[in-house]
Amino acid sequence: MDFRWLNIAVVAVTLGSAPSLVNSEVSASDLPDFGDSSGTLISPVEERELGAAFMRSVRAQATLIDDPDVNQYIRQLGGRLVSHSDAPNYPFTFFVVDDPTINAFAGPGGYIGIHSGLILAARNESELAGVMAHEIAHVTQRHLLRAYESAEKLSLPTAAAMIAAILLGAATSSDAGIAAASAVQAGSIQYQLNFTRANEHEADRIGIQTLGRANIDPFGMPSFFERLHQSTRLYGTANIPEFLSTHPVTTDRIAESMQRAEQYGKDKPTDSLEFQLERVRLKVLMAKDVRALLEEFATLAGKPGAGPENRYGLALAHWRNGAFDEARKLLTGLLENDPDRILYRTTLARVELENGQTEQALERYQNTLKLYPGDITVGRHYAAALLLAGRAEQARDQLREMLRNEAARTPDVYELWARAASVSGPAWEANQASAEFYFLKGNVQLAIEQLEQALRHQDLSQYDEARIQSRLTLFKQTLADRQDK
Ligand SMILES: [Zn+2]
Repeated sequence: MDFRWLNIAVVAVTLGSAPSLVNSEVSASDLPDFGDSSGTLISPVEERELGAAFMRSVRAQATLIDDPDVNQYIRQLGGRLVSHSDAPNYPFTFFVVDDPTINAFAGPGGYIGIHSGLILAARNESELAGVMAHEIAHVTQRHLLRAYESAEKLSLPTAAAMIAAILLGAATSSDAGIAAASAVQAGSIQYQLNFTRANEHEADRIGIQTLGRANIDPFGMPSFFERLHQSTRLYGTANIPEFLSTHPVTTDRIAESMQRAEQYGKDKPTDSLEFQLERVRLKVLMAKDVRALLEEFATLAGKPGAGPENRYGLALAHWRNGAFDEARKLLTGLLENDPDRILYRTTLARVELENGQTEQALERYQNTLKLYPGDITVGRHYAAALLLAGRAEQARDQLREMLRNEAARTPDVYELWARAASVSGPAWEANQASAEFYFLKGNVQLAIEQLEQALRHQDLSQYDEARIQSRLTLFKQTLADRQDK
């Protein structure tokens, strides 16, 4: 498949050639085909395929944060912003890259990546939301349109791998990375990524509008950009935050954003407890020195007027140090004041589980699922707990039920399913689950091998065989596309 409109020099946002999605409420599948000025074409189906291939390349090239709580928070905040954007039905996907640098990016098909370093650097929810709203606007305003005019002949997988490599700033040794690097060496690609100033201004303007509509303090965007801008003055351009190298910020631009933010009023919420809790969680999960962490949070939690996030951080620090009783006491106290908060419930259940209180933990997960039926995060925690408790069959039922929901189809859920099925399911089911896991991780060859193994089993029903066969056809086609180039 040729993706001739693609000019990698400016690739950063969604690849589509619709002139604009402004004020239209359409999903990708509803989009008509539009030719761009050079007469080339990308259909919504192709855009989705490119997006999915991009995501597989991202997973092959980078480490993603797979913590279900942090991911759920980012998904929810992103969903809230999208629902107040100019394209509320466009299928966005938000994910967190395990990377300490301050950056965020938008790939094709509405895949928006946020570096863990950016979440840790944001002081409140409105700063994080500001960056996310800005990236969403690059997608909804179709800022890549002008890039299609200079044509490159690239196969879809090559294009996807290259966009991923550029956006992740990666030149890794994975096959996708090599594909990207060799295309770069071929001299056909300008290895950089810039928006025009007009694009940046527009993304700010539209993003601020989205923040205002979503009832989030619109000053979050300029204030975060200003802090990033200040940091380059303090530390010099050698330490320039990644985000600024792709989204140059000037004092003019900040002033203009401030003015715009004024229009939406100053009375909108700047922060949420959930943001502070998830930020603390991310910090603790990523920390290497867990002893220092304990001291830090003990000091913070001991200060007068310390917020619950500090006690939550202290509980997590105790947990990571193996002090389960301390962690349990703190979490029980937090739950007394805030009994329905999922994060407290699942964290306490996890501590109980590791402390050998299996029944209590499983019951807590079950009760939480009753309170929030179909919740993917709780469901995934519960399935993992069932596996730990040696109840693979129950875990398998739980996971199969969850996987009916498309949003649950992530590598970590397939991995759990593969483990559960290898203990309690038919062997082919474990192969099938592993195949989906490898496919999403961008390792199509291993995915194919798993499915071929699955098909060798004699106990397959006709229905299951047909289903696996059709996945195999798709995977083989994906691999063939990749080798085209
Ligand atoms: Zn930008």
